[in-house]
Amino acid sequence: MRELAVDLGERSYPIFIGSGVLTAHELLLPHLEQPRAVLVTNETVAPLYLERVTTMLERHAVRVDSVVLPDGEQYKNWQTLEKVYDTLVDTRAERATTLIALGGGVVGDMTGFAAATWQRGAPFVQMPTTLLAQVDSSVGGKTAINHPRGKNMIGAFHQPRAVLIDTDTLATLPLRELRAGLAEVIKYGLIRDAAFFDWLEGHMEAVLALEPGPVAFAIERSCRNKAEVVAADETERGERALLNLGHTFGHAIETGTGYVDWLHGEAVAVGMLMAAEVSLRLGWLDESELARIEGLLIRAGLPVQGPALPVDEMLHWMAGDKKVSGGRLRLVLLQGLGKAVVTADVPPSVLRAAIAARS
Ligand code: NAD
Ligand code: MG
Repeated sequence: MRELAVDLGERSYPIFIGSGVLTAHELLLPHLEQPRAVLVTNETVAPLYLERVTTMLERHAVRVDSVVLPDGEQYKNWQTLEKVYDTLVDTRAERATTLIALGGGVVGDMTGFAAATWQRGAPFVQMPTTLLAQVDSSVGGKTAINHPRGKNMIGAFHQPRAVLIDTDTLATLPLRELRAGLAEVIKYGLIRDAAFFDWLEGHMEAVLALEPGPVAFAIERSCRNKAEVVAADETERGERALLNLGHTFGHAIETGTGYVDWLHGEAVAVGMLMAAEVSLRLGWLDESELARIEGLLIRAGLPVQGPALPVDEMLHWMAGDKKVSGGRLRLVLLQGLGKAVVTADVPPSVLRAAIAARS
């Protein structure tokens, strides 16, 4: 079992990573304020893991209520959130009752937002079951639901009390979802951890084969990077923006294709390459570095070419991104492998050429 901490003063919390973490009562119980919890999960994850967590808690005299949501990004909305609030009201949950998110990032974001708003802030714990949630969304306290016309537009910063990552859950995850999570793993190497990027080049097949040591290492190293960034900049005034490498392009791909054909991680993979193409044209990255990024993404089974969206349409969707500040498009770019910067000064012709190179 591996343990690390997100260092946020009074709101610091541990991240536990390992096999069997879902049923390790000694990790969870110290983080419950009262012997009550409301488990939030979805219809796919519930049959796989709900009973084992419920049984573990009930064996230790914790009252457990649960709510099973429909599965899918399209349900990350008010109507579904109402189901969580209804359960909290129906079961007379208190302000000290812990909400537990058991599932991927959709469940995690909704549970976190429910916890942030329930009685003005209730404790919550993350039990992420997708690779993406384990290395990214469960850490850092961003919670949100979607607006029909904008992803993650309604949300709050609300940190969990603990993050419990059971690497065994990846065994049931569809391979395509595993690959999508790897895009965010590779991202950490690219933005701030060159040694990790090198390590991934040596271990990509082992991680994809879910070899326990390499998988746990990749998750821990990703969480460590995310935890350091979040500790330095909890509410994204500065450094945290670097975590958006590839995301402005990626969101344009997701929006432009109607959120059906592309998984987030797949769009981010192409987005990171578009950012690298911009960096190349600015002389910040050389051809061999770009080739290494592309090579690693290919080995992870991720796409390296975007959908055939016209450049103008990509730019249109990019302009609607949350990262637009004062009307200016701010992009995360690379100055070598392991070093990222935010800039608002990309010449339009360079941007267009970079997008075209990957469309
Ligand atoms: P997801 O939650 O939709 O999960 C992907 C699919 O895998 C779903 O069908 C889910 O039911 C299924 N699943 C989950 N665990 C499983 C398991 N162990 N075995 C089998 N199937 C399993 O998608 P995701 O990629 O985990 O998360 C994406 C969401 O996360 C998006 O809504 C995104 O906005 C959000 N996100 C949030 C943050 C943040 O900082 N809060 C960061 C990144 C992403
Ligand atoms: Mg992401």
